[in-house]
Amino acid sequence: MKKLIYVIPVLMFLTILNIHSGSAASINSDSSKVCIVTGEAIDDNGISYAYLNQNVDLCCEVCIKAFNKEPAKYIKGNLWCPICNDDDAVKDISAVHNKVKYYFCNESCKETFNSNPEEVLNKYSKNEK
Ligand SMILES: [Zn+2]
Ligand SMILES: [Zn+2]
Repeated sequence: MKKLIYVIPVLMFLTILNIHSGSAASINSDSSKVCIVTGEAIDDNGISYAYLNQNVDLCCEVCIKAFNKEPAKYIKGNLWCPICNDDDAVKDISAVHNKVKYYFCNESCKETFNSNPEEVLNKYSKNEK
């Protein structure tokens, strides 16, 4: 009999904990965008930044600079080779143009890019304003 008296408050406590964690989870799922540099939720002032074929969510100018310096650090999944138009680029073959780093699948793609970066990037500038 003594045992039951202890068990009931513990059960009640666990129920309260469940309610709290439940509501916290629903708050997180409401914020849809996360800055890929800071990992924090973005409010209305967030920036949808165009990098080659994709748009990434960033919270501020500082994060854009950080992203441009080393996009591979923040992009999840494969890197895009702008010469082949394929997601087979590697982190070790890269070139920097206008302070933005780009990646390529091999050295010849990198050379093609370096010979005329503007022309290559123009194909992607439709996304920009
Ligand atoms: Zn930021
Ligand atoms: Zn390539």
